[in-house]
Amino acid sequence: MTRHACLRFVLCLLVLLTSTATATRAQVKPGRDPNQPIDEEYTKKNREYTTETYFNSPLTDYLPSSPKVPTPKAVLGDVAGAPGKLPYAEDVYRYMRMLEKATPRVKVFSIGTSEEGREMIAVAVASESLLARLEENRGRLAKLADPRTINLNDDEADKLVAASFPIYYITGTIHSTETGAPTALMELAYRLAVDDSAYVRNIRDNLVTLITPVVEVDGRNRMVDVYNWHLAHPNENYPPLLYWGHYVAHDNNRDAIGLSLKLTRNVLNTFTGWKAQVLHDLHESVPYLYDNTIGDGPYNAWLDPILTDEWQMIGWNNVSEMTKFGMPGVFAHGNFDTWSPGYLMFIAATHNGISRLYETFGNAGADTLERTLSPNEYSRTWYRQNPPLPKTRWSQRNNNNYEETGLLTSLGYFSSNSKLFLKNFYLKSKRSVIKPRNEGPAAYVLSGDDPRPGNQAELLRTLQAQGVEISRATGPFTVTLKAKKKGSEPKGPNGQGRPATPAATPTPPVEAPKTVTSEDTRQFPAGSFIVRMDQPYSRIADALLDYQYWAPNDPQQDIYDDTAWTMGELANVEVVRVTDVNVLSVPMELVSGDVHSPGAVNGSGPVYLINHNADNSLMTLRYQLKDVQIEAAEEAFEAAGHKFNRGTFILRKASVDDLRRAASELGIQIYAVDTAPAVATHPVKAARIALMHTWLNTQDEGWWRIGLDQLKVPFAYISTQDVAKEPNLKAKYDVIILAPVNRGTAAIISGMPMWGNAIPWKTTSLTPNLGKTDETDDIRPGLGLSGISNLQKFVQSGGLFITVDDTTDLAVSYGFAPGVSVARSQRLRAVGDILRLKTVDAKSPITYGYGDSLAMYCSNGPIFNISSVAGGRGGRQRSAPRVTGRGTPDDPDTVQGRPPVEVPESTHSEVWEAAPLDAEQRRNNSFVIPPPLRPRVVLRYANNSDLFVSGLLDGGDEIAQHPAVIDTPLGNGHVLLFSTNPFWRGQTKGSYFLVFNAILNFDSLNTGRKLDEK
Ligand SMILES: [Zn+2]
Repeated sequence: MTRHACLRFVLCLLVLLTSTATATRAQVKPGRDPNQPIDEEYTKKNREYTTETYFNSPLTDYLPSSPKVPTPKAVLGDVAGAPGKLPYAEDVYRYMRMLEKATPRVKVFSIGTSEEGREMIAVAVASESLLARLEENRGRLAKLADPRTINLNDDEADKLVAASFPIYYITGTIHSTETGAPTALMELAYRLAVDDSAYVRNIRDNLVTLITPVVEVDGRNRMVDVYNWHLAHPNENYPPLLYWGHYVAHDNNRDAIGLSLKLTRNVLNTFTGWKAQVLHDLHESVPYLYDNTIGDGPYNAWLDPILTDEWQMIGWNNVSEMTKFGMPGVFAHGNFDTWSPGYLMFIAATHNGISRLYETFGNAGADTLERTLSPNEYSRTWYRQNPPLPKTRWSQRNNNNYEETGLLTSLGYFSSNSKLFLKNFYLKSKRSVIKPRNEGPAAYVLSGDDPRPGNQAELLRTLQAQGVEISRATGPFTVTLKAKKKGSEPKGPNGQGRPATPAATPTPPVEAPKTVTSEDTRQFPAGSFIVRMDQPYSRIADALLDYQYWAPNDPQQDIYDDTAWTMGELANVEVVRVTDVNVLSVPMELVSGDVHSPGAVNGSGPVYLINHNADNSLMTLRYQLKDVQIEAAEEAFEAAGHKFNRGTFILRKASVDDLRRAASELGIQIYAVDTAPAVATHPVKAARIALMHTWLNTQDEGWWRIGLDQLKVPFAYISTQDVAKEPNLKAKYDVIILAPVNRGTAAIISGMPMWGNAIPWKTTSLTPNLGKTDETDDIRPGLGLSGISNLQKFVQSGGLFITVDDTTDLAVSYGFAPGVSVARSQRLRAVGDILRLKTVDAKSPITYGYGDSLAMYCSNGPIFNISSVAGGRGGRQRSAPRVTGRGTPDDPDTVQGRPPVEVPESTHSEVWEAAPLDAEQRRNNSFVIPPPLRPRVVLRYANNSDLFVSGLLDGGDEIAQHPAVIDTPLGNGHVLLFSTNPFWRGQTKGSYFLVFNAILNFDSLNTGRKLDEK
């Protein structure tokens, strides 16, 4: 043991001893202070609404009274968790502000607004003495959070720890159908402010509880509407919560990677702004209290082991305490894998805090119901020795008791060990800063000559929003890359060997020398971005930029969510992982403000050229200049000393002032030249777009809407019912998109069963928050056969219909895509992963701006085959096995007694191609598709050896080489089929432009098409 290590050991021991001492000192009996009067009526109602005494605890089965401070009854008219009572967000806020007025122990902070403009708040509760010292405490926590400020000095840290108190942040109701948290948190705030029991005083005097009672405010208010509709129509079927948030449903809890939603950013900023130690998110789906923080393997591989130990400490203490209260069904561990960093709570895990999550039991409303569980819910297992009951009456009050008891127990444990957790907070932050010389990497580098500076800037802005510092090299520099193993071929963009500049995408020239200098080093030009790993939030950058590998034989087979999210790949931007610590000494400056790609109008002349590099800002530009004529170059060309890709925008008549403004705002380089290049062109149109949704599920299409909205692309939002009624869709729209629905084709067409009552989704005085996004008197009818027929007419008359993942089945089953079939998968497991695609037809406008290879998000997408015969199956060809006879396996058989005959050679075709038709198949066959109407494969899945990019892929040979993006002509229009999903969770910005290209070129999609001869 070195002296240094020895000292560290002693220090650790000291910390351990002090914390144990604190824990012993603070062990206080849970339960009321007999000297403090209780609110008799409130307590009585509480016990009345609790269905069994063992569903209550000594921490919640009474309510202390206060002469000054109002109880939740002041707003609810009854106790928290009372049947029939679901408060709107505004009611919850009104109560929190009443508390703020009545006691110096509560402070309310506004933390931002939702997409629909509703306020989000955070409520701080602690002793008046702590609340008075919030700011000076924040100053100390900020130093612990960024140990660079104290030169990583542990002694200094100990002093700060001794003087500081922690922040425990609780968030409620991100999932709007999970309704209990707001009332539980109202009552929790009251208890923390008023209760004089030793147990609660220990919490109040040692930490700040910070509460966001409603995370998804828009969805909460709609859920209350739905519940009120149900109360007013007690015997009818009531609407499912179609729109939770403005855009997505449960996926609002998968946004901590892409940060697309305001609620994610508001919670993230609150967590990092307060320098909080815990983020504890409340959910309701599992009986009766499942602390899924500990979860199951595989754990996210980028987390500090200090954190994963903290999960165990707090979680098992929780279970132990509540078990001692006699409350059944409290458990931890379970089968939630702790892999993806997309969950809201993971904001803490990836920012040196502690992520926590409860699933309590809820009835999706405030009715008291008889609940019957399934055996897998009530059975006893090793991690659930005291399981829930097979059958019981369950109330929202029970739910509130469990939530509050769990939280109070956690707060009690945390406050008794507050110094230990503060020290851990410092240690985790410090270990993030020393990462480059410890586990590495040293940095990630994004080259200053990336062909897509716009998408690169967007990626870097997302990292900045995560709190990551971005630096920029002031000169060219060289780093040593980890030497490749012999014989390993370059696989993908990041780091070791993006395929050299793809043929289809000439990179615009830059001043810097060519990037790859030798096998083991790489030179980057000045202006390259460096994400240093010696910063406090290095962990989130590392987790998001790195590659994921989920072993196919991992014991965890019940995979909870996506297995991959590698940000550079999904953004189609190169990110290089650098372990060479010399990169940290490169001259660089910290980027102040948001990273922005530079834009300008260069040169002079009446014709303007904008290189098509598939930067998403080009789509914004097209719609911003919707009245300007823009053409696309159908071939690459050179002009003004620059190379321009196929698809380059050519503007012959435009106001240079408008262009200058757009260029600088959107970060686009525009080149003015005297004459237009001599290449074939066609118009790039600001097509009229409709996004068609079902009334079954709006979750996944929400990610398409947010993508279009963020880029300011206008679109009509229509439902399948609108399409069913509109015979002339082409008069209104050029492009109709049907994003994934995940309910199957039959349900899209039939809708919901028509028995029972009509189910409205609209604004009324009873339901003021429903409707608006879209509305209908009855959500039950689906697309219907009239809708299919109207869509057929739309395409026949020149429209473009885009289908994705599961909705391609509708296109294939209903004759929209003759020659395309879907094979059933047997073994394929591509669980929310990233796969490599290869460009098959670089002349298709759909590929404009892309190279010969693209990584895309895939979630067991359909396995397409194509054929030149309508209804044909296509697919992998098997050569006919030779028959028994003379000779070796490769020899032909020989018939005896006559001269040998030549066997006609069988024609070979690739998996992604249609097999050539022979004369036998073509003779009098009305099913043969005329060459101009045959499916055109634009991109395919890579060969099996190159297919995998990130995540879990098993049985990949089943989908390898198969078509991935198919453009099928139909009448005068086109149908586009995606096996991958180009718009997913705001993470797939690198594949958006496949869709944008299709939209902008909707009436020129046959450009560059090579037709079969026969
Ligand atoms: Zn939930």
